[in-house]
Amino acid sequence: MRLFLALEPPDSLRKRLGELADLAQAHCGGRRMPDASLHLTLAFLGEVEEERADELFQWVVDMTVPPGEWRLDSWGTFRRPGIVWVGGRSPALEQLHASVWDKLASFGFSDRPGHFVPHITLLRRARRLETQDLSEIDLTWPYRRLSLVRSFTENDGARYETLARSRNH
Ligand code: ATP
Ligand code: MG
Repeated sequence: MRLFLALEPPDSLRKRLGELADLAQAHCGGRRMPDASLHLTLAFLGEVEEERADELFQWVVDMTVPPGEWRLDSWGTFRRPGIVWVGGRSPALEQLHASVWDKLASFGFSDRPGHFVPHITLLRRARRLETQDLSEIDLTWPYRRLSLVRSFTENDGARYETLARSRNH
């Protein structure tokens, strides 16, 4: 099954991010991520066998994440896939990303990315990758739990299902 580790936004922020996705789509075109799918990917794992997925599940349900607040203050784009995103630099998230990947390496996952740009994808296949005219962003995402998410490939983009969440503090 296709898996990734993510942070899921609180509902109030999800709604706000959805509004930004509407705004961005009006300006840039492309396919808007549904509100229910908005997330921050901490680690993309790709296709994982059943046995290893069980290991990941146990690890995540027993895990606690140092709670933090991610400040979202910028628009960004990834040119080739036509992605428009919002995000912001965060030493705390970089630390979380690093510690998650240390553990994943011990499980045998070797696709650790060279660098990490914390972002939430709002649009895919955007026609215009210009964000300078969009409104300024200053949002805060308080996070305390991490999710193991399964991705199902469907015709009009992936559908996600949360399989497990780390423990609450
Ligand atoms: P689709 O690929 O069908 O357009 P999607 O990208 O939302 O949909 P997945 O490809 O399953 O769904 O990706 C799940 C999450 O992992 C998304 O946040 C995606 O951006 C991220 N992701 C996917 N592939 C990679 C990769 N090779 N490296 C880093 N992150 C990835
Ligand atoms: Mg993809």
